[in-house]
Amino acid sequence: MQRTEIESLGEFGLIRRLTKQTVLRQPSSLMGIGDDAAVINPDGKRVVVSTDMLVEGVHFDLSYAPLKHLGYKAIAVNLSDVCAMNALPTQVTVSIAVSSRFSVEALDELYTGVHKACAVYGVDLVGGDTSSSTSGLMITVTALGLVDSDQAVSRSGAKAGDLLVVTGELGGAYMGLQVLEREKVVFESAPTAQPDLSGHEGILERQLKPEARIDIIRELAEIGLKPTSMIDISDGLASEVFHLCTSSGLGAKLYEDKLPIDDHTYKVARDFNLDPTMCMLSGGEDYELLFTISQEDYEKVRNHPKLSIIGHMLEEAEKKSLVTKNGIETPLKAQGWDNMQRSNQGEES
Ligand code: ADP
Ligand code: MG
Repeated sequence: MQRTEIESLGEFGLIRRLTKQTVLRQPSSLMGIGDDAAVINPDGKRVVVSTDMLVEGVHFDLSYAPLKHLGYKAIAVNLSDVCAMNALPTQVTVSIAVSSRFSVEALDELYTGVHKACAVYGVDLVGGDTSSSTSGLMITVTALGLVDSDQAVSRSGAKAGDLLVVTGELGGAYMGLQVLEREKVVFESAPTAQPDLSGHEGILERQLKPEARIDIIRELAEIGLKPTSMIDISDGLASEVFHLCTSSGLGAKLYEDKLPIDDHTYKVARDFNLDPTMCMLSGGEDYELLFTISQEDYEKVRNHPKLSIIGHMLEEAEKKSLVTKNGIETPLKAQGWDNMQRSNQGEES
């Protein structure tokens, strides 16, 4: 593959190359890339803003995350935060710090993913910044979204008795990561070995190329359902339930048999000797939405194919529990996946 040094283009040449295909689709984007700042017209709506930073070696590993997917993921995870406020994402800015280890072609790949995500979600790339870095790659995305003034949803609005609802299925991204980590270890010990990823496409995509649930935000508006509180699932369901509880000053009760998992994720968890329920509760990076609704809205979600009612909020703020499939009530633990792996290794030894 051809390798063009970033130096040979210069900063402005590089920015032009990476952003030349940018199109503005949103009516709220009055001015985009090319001036000192972008100009946005919220047209009477509330503006929602969210920023995330991705650092090589901390948030991603380029030995298995293709740059194209990384660009896509950087956008999608930011749009997920905007959606979690019940807003529709409209614009993004993308800032990168890059070391000379990266070629112009590598950055083309990254931006192919960025532009793809912008097209899929209909958001506009309206600016950014470009810097060199002494080591590695850093990507910062800021996402903007618009919401009607009375429709923004925070983490703090849940009431006792509200139903807890989750979108899609959980645990897939975590199991995708387990498969990638396993194949990386195999590859490091025998570099000629071909990675065995076949059959796992679904969970690999969940890990490498997650989607923001903008479809859910549109559908909630269509059925006239405003959640009482909402958060996106970046760290794992249990941890996000704790966030909603803390912000709303409530407790929560979850039912294990209501937690949504797909068959393949379940099977791979079993193959890895992991408890599928733990993967759903602590796996993270699913980027599904978790929200609460008033009991009066039960009929609106009851048979919705994308939504699962998994529990309810409790008056007692100290109480967070999980009712197991055997009907036993146990304390819900908000442990991250680092912890989970350790406890699992503990079980094996
Ligand atoms: P300034 O010197 O005012 O910061 P820049 O030369 O950094 O301007 O940027 C010129 C234009 O290109 C601006 O509109 C900026 O938002 C945009 N831009 C710069 N870097 C990027 C990038 N990595 N991705 C997208 N847009 C960028
Ligand atoms: Mg700049």
